[in-house]
Amino acid sequence: MVKLIAVDLDGTLLNENNQVSNENLEAIKLAQTLGVEVVVATGRAYFDVKAIFKDTGLKTWIIGANGATIHQPNGELFHSVPINRVEALNILDWLEQEGFYYEVFSNDSIITPQNGRELLAIEMDRVTSGNPDVGIEQLKHAAEKQYSQTGFSFIHSCQDLAQTELNFYNILAFSFDEDKLKRGRAHFGEKTDLTIVSSAKHNFELEHRDASKGIALKILANKLNINIGATAAVGDSFNDLSMLGVAGRSAAMGNAPKEIKESCHEVTLSNVEDGVAHYIYSLIRDNSK
Ligand code: CA
Repeated sequence: MVKLIAVDLDGTLLNENNQVSNENLEAIKLAQTLGVEVVVATGRAYFDVKAIFKDTGLKTWIIGANGATIHQPNGELFHSVPINRVEALNILDWLEQEGFYYEVFSNDSIITPQNGRELLAIEMDRVTSGNPDVGIEQLKHAAEKQYSQTGFSFIHSCQDLAQTELNFYNILAFSFDEDKLKRGRAHFGEKTDLTIVSSAKHNFELEHRDASKGIALKILANKLNINIGATAAVGDSFNDLSMLGVAGRSAAMGNAPKEIKESCHEVTLSNVEDGVAHYIYSLIRDNSK
């Protein structure tokens, strides 16, 4: 019997227009009506998710910033694990030295350097002119998606953050240069006090070691007095592996890479075919058997 369903957002609950389809909405609302808890688990910041859900009437638990925050359906913060401040500032300093576009998810804004978008535009030119096989439209689309988040605030450099009291939940580094990404992943991959994940081809994300979608799902199940075996999770990417691994049942989206599909109990339809609704209905059918 599944009592808690964790649903990833991008590439999972959201369709190609970054919207929640009516099919998916109805399935989630039906599950909730039947007493099944739903949590949306995403790398995005909480306030960004709220903006996406604004016109949907959807109220769910939200695991944000890859597990660094958990918000209640009423919007109150239930749990959070920020990155150590000194560590966070060191990370940002390194990213600036290396010329990365970066974003820091803080309490109520996504902090990013003023010159970041210019940096990415220059990278895009360099990568596409050096390699005609790389489609510029695809890169533009990836950048636009990044900029379409809600709640940006701009800084000159990370030094601006040294005197603030803000919490830093998630640091995202984004680049079109694969060697640069590789260097970044190698540099931070050695740090045992951090979790490093990737939610898309051109990024890597850093959180506190105790922040992951999987750990957050366990904490939430515990809070709701639900056995972890009575949970299900559905997702499409590498930052979902931790929750797909701990949930009692797991499904990969039809659009997920092979490695994700192989790590799950089953594969559902793609995000443009309402795969989430399809999976939720199958869980509900099994619950009533
Ligand atoms: Ca995803």
